[in-house]
Amino acid sequence: MTLVDFLRDRLDYLIATGRRAKLGPDTRGVVADDDIAPLLHNEDGQFDLPERVIADAKAKLHIVALHAGHHRCGPRDYDNDNPCPTLRYLALPHAGDADYNPAWRP
Ligand SMILES: [Zn+2]
Repeated sequence: MTLVDFLRDRLDYLIATGRRAKLGPDTRGVVADDDIAPLLHNEDGQFDLPERVIADAKAKLHIVALHAGHHRCGPRDYDNDNPCPTLRYLALPHAGDADYNPAWRP
């Protein structure tokens, strides 16, 4: 799995989770993954953050697309075998996931 594929999987998951959360409070049990639920609730426990989670994940998917494959970031060239620091930092919040490759650490 490349870092690009890893990021797309995680961001697609966040978008899907945010969309399920928009269905209403009855879905709370469906989306109650410990790492996701806090992102979807405000301080009063209401579902007011799914839109932000979805928008954030979509924006990051655009960033991933700009940095996928062979490209130049700053003075250096990067590719899927040697991902750029932008992708490495985007993946860092998911470093605890089983599919995360420690070699991707920035
Ligand atoms: Zn880049």
